[in-house]
Amino acid sequence: MHRSRVKGALTRRHLMGLAAGFLPLKGWAGDDEDDKRPSASSTSAAVLASAGLSGQRIVVAGGGMAGMTAAKYLRLWGGSGVQVTLVEPDAVYTSSIMSNLVLNGSRNIDSLRFKRDALTTKYGVVRKPGQVVAVDALARTVTVSDKSVLAYDRLVLAPGVSFDDAHGLTQADYETRTPHAWRAGAQTTLLRNQVAAMRNGDIFVMTIPKSPYRCPPGPYERACVVADYLKRAKGPNCKVLVLDENLAIQAERHTFELAFSTLHAGVIEYVPGVSHIVIDPTTKRVSYVDPVGGTQVVPARVVNPIVPHRASGSAAGGWLARAGLNNSADGRWASVDVLSYESTAPGAQGVHVIGDAASCGMPKAGHVANQEAKICADAILRLLAGGQPFGQPVANSACFSPITATKASWLTAVYQYDATERKMKVASSGGQTLVNGLPATATESSSIDGDNFENMSIWFRTLMADTTA
Ligand SMILES: Cc1cc2nc3c(=O)[nH]c(=O)nc-3n(C[C@H](O)[C@H](O)[C@H](O)COP(=O)(O)OP(=O)(O)OC[C@H]3O[C@@H](n4cnc5c(N)ncnc54)[C@H](O)[C@@H]3O)c2cc1C
Repeated sequence: MHRSRVKGALTRRHLMGLAAGFLPLKGWAGDDEDDKRPSASSTSAAVLASAGLSGQRIVVAGGGMAGMTAAKYLRLWGGSGVQVTLVEPDAVYTSSIMSNLVLNGSRNIDSLRFKRDALTTKYGVVRKPGQVVAVDALARTVTVSDKSVLAYDRLVLAPGVSFDDAHGLTQADYETRTPHAWRAGAQTTLLRNQVAAMRNGDIFVMTIPKSPYRCPPGPYERACVVADYLKRAKGPNCKVLVLDENLAIQAERHTFELAFSTLHAGVIEYVPGVSHIVIDPTTKRVSYVDPVGGTQVVPARVVNPIVPHRASGSAAGGWLARAGLNNSADGRWASVDVLSYESTAPGAQGVHVIGDAASCGMPKAGHVANQEAKICADAILRLLAGGQPFGQPVANSACFSPITATKASWLTAVYQYDATERKMKVASSGGQTLVNGLPATATESSSIDGDNFENMSIWFRTLMADTTA
């Protein structure tokens, strides 16, 4: 094992600890030998609170970053007193995290596949293949795609996101011609093959939707990785045109401004404040209106539209919408009480929503989904035992971004519950003040380097082990 090394404002121990830590329960999977904090299974308040539970039924819908973590920790902390059923169509999870590295050939998509077996064999979670197609919050039942009906005492919804038909494109276009590849899988491989077939001088166009969207730094990271690959593999004349519907870079602004203007200068062209994007899926011509120049038309070779997305099932007529759970102001997300992740929709008592589908004040990211799942699991066990959710949750987020095939940056933040505003907010005590041993402010790497790249792999393994193993 390596000793901790200081990287800018953070030590490696902090970042590795961040991969698993949900602080109220002292759940740590830090791998440094000097980290003597208790493991998640040892001193959880929820374990104590749930000692008297027996036969309580919890259904978890969606086995991604959020749902797998929730199912695992409900059983880890709740023990045999809770029956946990995970409804999920696929036996294997494909991680979107690190999937940009498939585009430059650094990783194979198979290296991002994680079996869900351990949830069953190690923790006793029952896996029910299928999709939830209806929720009856009054009767406390869900209907699954095979028409079976499951009764629950508490329901956890973690279905991730679905993608709008946008810019003149349909779901069939995303699958076959203009992949968004914003949920890893066949579209990632399609996009990889399209990028690999580009020639020197070709143009790669990508679009970024207005926030909130999944993984705030992810699109800028993708632009960097693709630009780096094209320069090395195809020659100096390719271009990556980034059409951002936001007015500015949404995360790690310093890092990406630096990367766009130095490492990838002359290849990446970044255009913020874009509107009226129209993409022809056959010719790959892209038109858009930029804030100064009016309408522009670009003959792209490859188009990667990261289109607007929303909580899965929240479109008109969808299962989440029919249950009234898409109660954010724009109807695209599920608003929740961040002490328990219980839905704030009328009549939705007992229904919790976590991960990217939820609107909770923290970014839509896999690391955050893992944290929300633990806060939610803890709260559910306390509620089932007749108690109240823990009142001072602290969560964290870490995100590594590859900038080339060998160098990366990172961003991290600690979030703490603000009882006055009843929100999770970036803790703001400033500088290197620690909250439960972690840095108190949002921090980004001061350099783009190979050490960060190496640490990125360790962080990813730690996070995925905490979620799936
Ligand atoms: C290119 C890219 C890079 C990223 N990099 C990072 C990163 O560095 N760090 C980071 O923290 N995050 C990153 N993310 C974001 C991260 O992948 C997501 O935030 C995370 O996967 C969200 O977890 P989730 O559980 O909400 O959704 P998902 O992981 O998408 O899981 C949703 C699950 O629900 C299932 N499901 C859907 N509907 C139903 C239904 N009706 N019934 C039952 N099951 C259903 C699906 O099959 C799926 O398994 C990245 C994303 C992308 C695209």
